[in-house]
Amino acid sequence: MIKYTLRCKNYHQFDSWFASSDAFDKLKSSDLLSCEVCGTKSITKSLMAPSVKAKDEAKKSNRPLRQQKEKEANLIQELRKKVEKSCEYVGEKFADEARSIHYGDAPERSIYGKTTLQTAKSLSEEGIPVMPLPWYDRKSN
Ligand SMILES: [Zn+2]
Repeated sequence: MIKYTLRCKNYHQFDSWFASSDAFDKLKSSDLLSCEVCGTKSITKSLMAPSVKAKDEAKKSNRPLRQQKEKEANLIQELRKKVEKSCEYVGEKFADEARSIHYGDAPERSIYGKTTLQTAKSLSEEGIPVMPLPWYDRKSN
């Protein structure tokens, strides 16, 4: 059995069960289908059973989200590789080193390490460019 939501030309909707998708076409072509409300024979198939449609839509809308998350994860991985290759790890001394470099007390270079959100904020207030690294969030503090 297949459930169809039918709609007449006057926008009345009603559900009907058919033995097969052919059954609908056969009944319609032999004028055996009519609107339950107004009796017109101008009937069109509107939707399949709503539960089936809802499932399909859920599947569709989940897919791009997952792809986007994978994309983000890949970007983070790439960024991480780049940073770890081209920057010097200074660990807990990050804030001191960043200041030293900024004020010319240490050689100019890119560094990365650990700091608190508060320190990162005051660094950027001093005009020192800091960027939070997405793989060090929360756990490191
Ligand atoms: Zn009708």
